[in-house]
Amino acid sequence: MSARDVTEFLRIENGSFVCRCGHVLGDARRNFKEFTLIEEGPIHEAGLRVNPYRVGGRFVFRQFYCPNCLLRLETEVALTGEPILWDIQVDAG
Ligand SMILES: [Zn+2]
Repeated sequence: MSARDVTEFLRIENGSFVCRCGHVLGDARRNFKEFTLIEEGPIHEAGLRVNPYRVGGRFVFRQFYCPNCLLRLETEVALTGEPILWDIQVDAG
């Protein structure tokens, strides 16, 4: 048994990402965002003050939720059409 925290809401337990609610998301060697509910919207939802006509259309704001408890686990701002960012890569041992 081994467990460690990745973020405030996410930990790794026995090689899997586990939500704070106890829901097992999936293999810790993968991008945990693959296991979440993804909501993608215009960048102004991120609270950024950008001109939606000049800059906003080039970016999207993504939010990643636990499919069990709907806790928001992570957010990211990305270029429109860009693959989901893999910013938490861990050595799952
Ligand atoms: Zn959860």
